[in-house]
Amino acid sequence: MIDIQFVGTGGAFDVEQGNSAAWITFKGKKILLDCGHTVYPRLREKGLAGAMDYILLTHLHDDHVGSLSTLIFHQKYAEHKRAKILHSTADFGDLLFSFLRFSQQNPADYSDFLPLWQFPGGGISYIDTTGMHAASMPTFAYLFEDEDEILCYSGDIGNAYLFMSHFEKYPTNKKVRIFNEIIFYPNIKSHCYYKDLALLASKYEVYAYHVNHLQAPADNEIALVGNFPKFLL
Ligand SMILES: [Zn+2]
Repeated sequence: MIDIQFVGTGGAFDVEQGNSAAWITFKGKKILLDCGHTVYPRLREKGLAGAMDYILLTHLHDDHVGSLSTLIFHQKYAEHKRAKILHSTADFGDLLFSFLRFSQQNPADYSDFLPLWQFPGGGISYIDTTGMHAASMPTFAYLFEDEDEILCYSGDIGNAYLFMSHFEKYPTNKKVRIFNEIIFYPNIKSHCYYKDLALLASKYEVYAYHVNHLQAPADNEIALVGNFPKFLL
């Protein structure tokens, strides 16, 4: 089984739960998936701010990259190492580089920027979800596949059917675990309404994040990451 734990399970404003971010151990490497504004302080508390081998990002909203620059500086000045940042597409790599230029001037002084396929041993792929979260913002979902299992991570996305269409197109006999974002309010196009996730959860093992799990409505039947201590870092 691919090991996944969450540094935080909440949305942009859920300071107590922390911004959603995952700590994934895959093929012997530790990957930090997203680095929102609450993530660096949490990693410092755990003594893990320099412990990841790679950083991977779903998109550039603050609750996903808000402490990225600080984390990279920490690695350089406190841990004396260069961060390794994986990117999905070349365009997204360029965008990330430009984003970091605002605080780092020359981001190449601090980090190596690597295309996803350069991850040792492979097995990580992306689904381009651009436009499914915010009008024209580049966003990505990721899939981690080993011999036994495919672990899916949605990133922010207002489409509860993404992984269902994916596996209709690319059927698999492997175990599938889906970590999907969720929201409890209807008519919000940028996130997945919990009732819309019911179909996905009837077919796959689904855990939802990017929400304050303590505010779940009484009729919510989707498993929430925040309720599973085994998923909390
Ligand atoms: Zn977002």
